[in-house]
Amino acid sequence: MLINLLLSDIANACDGQLVGPDITVSEVITDTRVILPQALFVALKGARFDGHDYAVSAVQQGVVAVLCERDLSVPSYIKVADTQVAYGRLARLMRDAFSGPVVAITGSNGKTSVKDWLAQSLDDRNVLKTRANLNNQIGVPQTILSLNDHHDVAVIEAGTSFTGEIALLANIIHPDIVILTNASGSHFEGLGGLENIAIEKGCLLSGATEEALLILNADDAYFDYWCGLASGRQIWSFGFSDQATLYASELSLGAESSQALFHFKGQSVGVTVAGAGKHQIANGMAVVLALVGLGMAFEIAVEKLSQPVLVSGRLERRVTKNGALLIDDCYNASPTSVQAAIDVLVMQPVKQTWFILGALGELGSQRDDIHHQIGVYAQEQGVSHLICVGHVAGIAGKAFEAKGGCAVFCDTHADAAEKVRYLDKQNAILVKGSRSAKMETVIEALIH
Ligand code: ATP
Ligand code: MG
Repeated sequence: MLINLLLSDIANACDGQLVGPDITVSEVITDTRVILPQALFVALKGARFDGHDYAVSAVQQGVVAVLCERDLSVPSYIKVADTQVAYGRLARLMRDAFSGPVVAITGSNGKTSVKDWLAQSLDDRNVLKTRANLNNQIGVPQTILSLNDHHDVAVIEAGTSFTGEIALLANIIHPDIVILTNASGSHFEGLGGLENIAIEKGCLLSGATEEALLILNADDAYFDYWCGLASGRQIWSFGFSDQATLYASELSLGAESSQALFHFKGQSVGVTVAGAGKHQIANGMAVVLALVGLGMAFEIAVEKLSQPVLVSGRLERRVTKNGALLIDDCYNASPTSVQAAIDVLVMQPVKQTWFILGALGELGSQRDDIHHQIGVYAQEQGVSHLICVGHVAGIAGKAFEAKGGCAVFCDTHADAAEKVRYLDKQNAILVKGSRSAKMETVIEALIH
């Protein structure tokens, strides 16, 4: 979390009533399975659960205060009318305390693609981005509440499944840059027709900061409507005709990538766009405009598009709460992908490299051999520390030690996360294992 907050300030922001001592919190949690120090527990209510049922036990487990809708027998709590609304306001408090630029992306298609591509292209900055597709009323506040002072920029995806949701999210995100990819017939059921979809998406434009940059699709039927919402904010458009601020011509579409010429403010640059399809070129143009809006030179921004968008959990570069580089490769693991990940880890310009390994599954009789080889390979490549979770991964640890390396053996994900929790930016941590090893639990513990 970015800053320490006083309960009285939170109560003010949420129109809530503080009961009990006014103390400082430095974390906000909604799940009692992950208790953090100095945490405020927000008792959210869902279709199948009510956080209030867990509030007392959360306090017994160590949270210092609760945000709730009714009186509770806990020492310190803030009572509000609606914890969901309050959660959003709390996130807005955090967003306002963040000094870096905040980019928000909405549209019917391409939000996640643009979000991931943009975040990946900002490779010289520490980016907080929406994880996976957590783009709703819960996911957006959760993402913003994980901002910390190591982040330089936030890239947030905003989705909608009911009328009014984007307006709520806009209030929380208050973006400096908005990308609106398009309006099409997705989510028809909840929103009732294309025009309503365009209106709904447009709420992100109206909710941007007064000086915001709005990046709009010039080829969309609702372009003129969205321009009308700008109220003096700067508009940059992208499209396939020379009316757009950035436009693409000379398209040559390939199976895995495309070629085009991008034209922007008198400059024309040839570009290779990773990924197939004309829509990908449109997404790419939106990414380039955002990069330029964030201060990158146009020709450098264009070059970023030749890099395929990395899928979340596949060599995804993240940052721990204390600023260490976290290479999240938890999506899955095979012997070759472990080697590739180790190669990436040891390439990082840091003092110490750490590899947190979970077991590789489905290897049959080769299981022990392959884990042994991983330990040997990690040591030969110069990994500084190997942390093994569970006894199968431990086979790699023994091989690593036998070659003179420093291995650590842990029984649980939490133990492993604890070993690296306090590392700073002089360190890079690779986390990897098969899907069955659930190594994302370690990632969660390190970033929240
Ligand atoms: P969701 O609403 O599920 O969050 P999204 O807007 O985040 O979706 P993506 O996950 O980026 O969209 O892409 C979903 C699918 O839409 C992809 O399979 C892709 O082929 C297609 N797509 C991506 N970008 C565009 C675009 N600009 N126009 C049309 N289709 C697109
Ligand atoms: Mg998405």
